Amino acid sequence: MGPPGAGKGTQAHRLEQDFDLSNFATGGMLREEVKNGSEFGKLAKECLDRGDLVPDDLVTEMIRMRLTKPESTDGFILDGFPRTVVQADALNEILADQGRAITAVIDIEVPDEEVIRRLTGRRVCVKSGHSFHTEMDPPKHEDRCDLDGSRLVTREDDRIETVRRRLKTYREKTQPVISYYEDLGMLRKVDGLQEPETVHAHVRALIATMRYEEAV
Ligand code: AMP
Repeated sequence: MGPPGAGKGTQAHRLEQDFDLSNFATGGMLREEVKNGSEFGKLAKECLDRGDLVPDDLVTEMIRMRLTKPESTDGFILDGFPRTVVQADALNEILADQGRAITAVIDIEVPDEEVIRRLTGRRVCVKSGHSFHTEMDPPKHEDRCDLDGSRLVTREDDRIETVRRRLKTYREKTQPVISYYEDLGMLRKVDGLQEPETVHAHVRALIATMRYEEAV
């Protein structure tokens, strides 16, 4: 869990390698559908561009398909799901049907003004998807990717008014999911203002401990 720009994707990617887990990022899956121009992608694009959530049943079905395949049998990371209480309930049901449950819920906390700074400064390569930041990780040549020279663009949903809307959606729809896991005693909070390496060390240690406790 964590607001947009908290670094969920970065951390999930590292954990995927640390623990050899499958990594399912709903935002990335949806952007892929949009790129492919599928019917589903066309529907999702409107929501993504506006900074709104895609309907619960569509996203849940996407996750259900992944969680019922062998690739998730040895464990998985969810990045960007569940984002509503309806999705959290659906996830419980999917896993309960398989006799499984979530091990840990990690919340990467970042204040709104830092989210705005991070997202509005982000520039993404049109070809590789690699991202830069105008202040924190500037490309050598303005608006050109260091890796392949392709054009760098601002993601449609990283525009200031869309970021504000995504934050509002996060507060209204996703904050209750955090409370939901907190009430169940499953939530572990991490300070997302720290360097990515520090956040990573913290999250990795948390998960290692919880997996150990789960196994004994
Ligand atoms: P992200 O890359 O996780 O910030 O997600 C980008 C966008 O994809 C979000 O702003 C939503 O429009 C959509 N999205 C991603 N995950 C979900 C989800 N679990 N439920 C609904 N919409 C989602």
